[in-house]
Amino acid sequence: MSKTLPVQKNDYIDVEFEDLTHDGAGVAKVDGYPIFVQGGLPGEKANIKVIKVNKGYGVGRMVQLLERSYFRIDIAQEEKHKFGGCQLEHISYEGQMKFKENQVRQVLTRIGKLENVTVHPVLGMEHTWQYRNKAQVPVGEKDGKLISGFFKPRSHEIVDTKESLIQLPEVNQAIQAVKEICSELGVKAYNEETHKGDLRHIMARYGKQTGELMVVIITRTNDFPNRNSIVEEIVARLPKVKSIVHNVNSKRTNVIIGDKTKVLWGSEVIYDYIGDVKFAISALSFYQVNPDQTKVLYDKALEYAGLNGNETVIDAYCGIGTISLFLAQKAKKVYGVEIVKEAIEDATRNAELNEISNAEFAVGKAEDIIPKWYDEGITADVLVVDPPRKGCDEALLQTIVEMKPAKIVYVSCNPGTLARDLRILEDGGYETLEVQPVDMFPQTTHVECVAKLVLKK
Ligand code: SAH
Repeated sequence: MSKTLPVQKNDYIDVEFEDLTHDGAGVAKVDGYPIFVQGGLPGEKANIKVIKVNKGYGVGRMVQLLERSYFRIDIAQEEKHKFGGCQLEHISYEGQMKFKENQVRQVLTRIGKLENVTVHPVLGMEHTWQYRNKAQVPVGEKDGKLISGFFKPRSHEIVDTKESLIQLPEVNQAIQAVKEICSELGVKAYNEETHKGDLRHIMARYGKQTGELMVVIITRTNDFPNRNSIVEEIVARLPKVKSIVHNVNSKRTNVIIGDKTKVLWGSEVIYDYIGDVKFAISALSFYQVNPDQTKVLYDKALEYAGLNGNETVIDAYCGIGTISLFLAQKAKKVYGVEIVKEAIEDATRNAELNEISNAEFAVGKAEDIIPKWYDEGITADVLVVDPPRKGCDEALLQTIVEMKPAKIVYVSCNPGTLARDLRILEDGGYETLEVQPVDMFPQTTHVECVAKLVLKK
């Protein structure tokens, strides 16, 4: 079969890269047959070795770069991939922003058939390293000691990592300290194969504006050895810690967080500010990982909502009420809905904390609660959605199309599902006016977008 393909496995060939895949690999074409090569950049020429040939595409490995892109930056060989998840580390920030803008435009055209939508240049950030306020790392064991870091691509082998350069130093320190303390005090790492051992993941989250740190220890069993001493040591070694939480995940699963959560020490929440709004954040609640850019993102959502104070707004997928409370300051009334119970408890608390009395929150699936509200006569002038990567539920989109809010603001962390959902909304009578990509995740291929839609007359 491979005879009909223009390349064979183990061939050495010279190619020119034309494009990047959504996960940052270079794409070269030989007689129309695409070959993906990690590290290749558009416009570059290279000698590659073909390491895999499938029917529709091949995979190659870079042997020698022959012509380099203006956007390439040098990273020492030993530094490459050291921190995990930084797929664009070899591209200058200017190049990363271009890549993300192109990616959004291509996906909107290909999946959403939205040829004429204005896509603005990406809103980027100044400090493109050490921005993440949260990490959750898997824990393993090597030579009798605990290790933690990230999984080697396509494997379950953990690469022991002392720091990640995209995380805030406080987050790195917290992870390292908890790992060392647990190691010293005899905690065994969870073993996926045998389903034995205890410590599965360590999570740390840091309120950048308040300096408050939360540590979450995720174990297989309800109890783990030397629990009290571990807590004492964490408090002693991490002076910024305000909350130590234990989560139990006893299932054989690669889902990180389990069903049982208990505060071991300190407060149930930590606080942080976005702009002037103060937020309580508990262990299981979603909170944007890039606090500097979160403000940029929410300001854009607020601008697109274009509120004058008389509107009823629905914020679907509201988390701890972040966007809701930003909007409530400019609207008559905001209703937020969110599936995680703890997040809604935080949202309610956050409304009180900021003395915002025109926001109301409900626990449940957006696709269940919003139709129910609609039946009860609650409709929105402006509707905001900010779903997880899989996008909005079809039932929710149908309700929106029936409810006919004059404006929709769609906040998305996945351009693919954004494009799919925009197409459904367009077919239901909406027009997408503009899309603003915001870079929440420098050095990675991820990109956040805010889209503004209006109901066609
Ligand atoms: N707007 C918030 C949260 C966005 S993340 C912020 O910016 O902080 C997406 C949120 O949707 C998460 O909090 C997740 O728990 C929630 N979620 C996931 N599926 C849902 C569903 N079907 N209905 C309502 N909320 C859901």
